Amino acid sequence: METKTMNIKIEKAKTSKIDKVDFDNLAFGNVFTDHMLVCDYKNGSWNIPEIIPYQPISLDPSAKIFHYGQSIFEGMKAYKDENNDIWLFRPLDNCKRLNISAKRMAIPEIPEDYFMEGLTALLKLEKDWIPQTPGSSLYIRPFIFASGTGFHASPADEYKFIIAFAPSGAYFSGKVKVLIEEKYSRSANGGVGYAKAGGNYAGQFYPTQLALEKGYNQVIWTDDNTHEFIEEAGAMNIFVRINDTLVTAPTSDRILDGITRKSILKIAKDEGIAVEERKITVSEIVEAAKNGSLKEMFGAGTAAVISPISAFGFRDVDYDLPEIGDNYASLLKKRITDIQYNRAEDKFGWRV
Ligand code: PMP
Repeated sequence: METKTMNIKIEKAKTSKIDKVDFDNLAFGNVFTDHMLVCDYKNGSWNIPEIIPYQPISLDPSAKIFHYGQSIFEGMKAYKDENNDIWLFRPLDNCKRLNISAKRMAIPEIPEDYFMEGLTALLKLEKDWIPQTPGSSLYIRPFIFASGTGFHASPADEYKFIIAFAPSGAYFSGKVKVLIEEKYSRSANGGVGYAKAGGNYAGQFYPTQLALEKGYNQVIWTDDNTHEFIEEAGAMNIFVRINDTLVTAPTSDRILDGITRKSILKIAKDEGIAVEERKITVSEIVEAAKNGSLKEMFGAGTAAVISPISAFGFRDVDYDLPEIGDNYASLLKKRITDIQYNRAEDKFGWRV
């Protein structure tokens, strides 16, 4: 990463909204801080980012984001420790993944120093917005979209990179009940499943709505080809514990390479837990649920951290997961959040 410091112009908000926020009762992602970082791509290069008061964006109706969906984003968090020091968790990985998404969607890549220095400058300005209540953090949303114009299905010539912050509480309240989906697909080989492209999420909304109507909180996607293998959930990678082995699907064209996922794999191995990255069939899980070898299922992601799954539905049958005392989900959640909130040694060098 380059170390030169760029001159990020800051236009401060005239008044702050912070006093109106109930930091003890935060929902997820619907309160925003006073400022945002904006960076424009024009004439073939990214301008130096600027910080301005949080505000609506004005766009031409022919902006390509509206028509062709050229849009990508990231999700990360800032954590405040007991001494009011502020920490990020593997932020460069988010920047790199944003650029992997950018490449796939024909969006110009954002220079790493623009991302990191822009984020740091905005965090310094908004440090009072980082909640300290247990389980809360500052959710960070970097995103890029096509602001360039024209009713022509080709990449835009102008883009905006924005970072906005939302002080947030838990993503899920309580345990999560999931439905294993066999009809709809989230992604396909050769497609954009591995990118954090806006359209990937829009495509999930309708099947997820159907699942919500049936009383589930989330869909677990299966592979588009055979629907025999479980892949991931809407915004989380999925882990299953069969007997004492922790298993998760391998990353592919179709699955987001989750930062929580890869961190959990490392921590689990460090704990001496047997870990497998391999294809998992739906029939294997159903069988394991029936014979009692399925001990745990949980989702893992920045927003959801580690969310235990209480039951899964498949072909109109619900399978309950047992409640076990010595569960991996609690152990791994404690280890990862202790690193994130600077309560434990940063053994793997993830904290920034
Ligand atoms: N899968 C999908 C589809 C996601 O949107 C997310 C959230 N970014 C994840 C998995 C988890 O990734 P991470 O641990 O990097 O947040």
